[in-house]
Amino acid sequence: MKANPKIRMTKQRQVILEELCKVTSHPTADEMYHMIRKRLPKISLGTVYRNLEILSELGMVLKLEVGGTQKRFDGNVENHYHVRCTDCGSVGDLHMAPDHEIEEKAQSHTDFQIKRHSLEFIGVCPECRGAASRRDS
Ligand SMILES: [Zn+2]
Ligand SMILES: [Zn+2]
Repeated sequence: MKANPKIRMTKQRQVILEELCKVTSHPTADEMYHMIRKRLPKISLGTVYRNLEILSELGMVLKLEVGGTQKRFDGNVENHYHVRCTDCGSVGDLHMAPDHEIEEKAQSHTDFQIKRHSLEFIGVCPECRGAASRRDS
């Protein structure tokens, strides 16, 4: 789908963008809906979902297509890496510099023109690690 350049920044869309930029939890559309409803009580889940899709097409938010789970959204559109918890599915930011060499390496192995890359690390988050060690003791 092509982004429509004439699209207006509606009040709803503005609020969704503001709320998403406040958090680093990479919320799902459902979680966004509960956050947005505190400011716009009449908004519907469908509207939140549609606006998140539009914002991601406009490049104003990042849509994380994490394996097999619900889509998550990120207000930070800079290239950065994520780490996902195998137990609870939470997604955190990984604060390390993106590896541009990997793109050159990939380019030398393909006829595709490499534009960017995304990388997801898999692990167990501090909360789930805490729960596991409590279970074990
Ligand atoms: Zn976890
Ligand atoms: Zn992120």
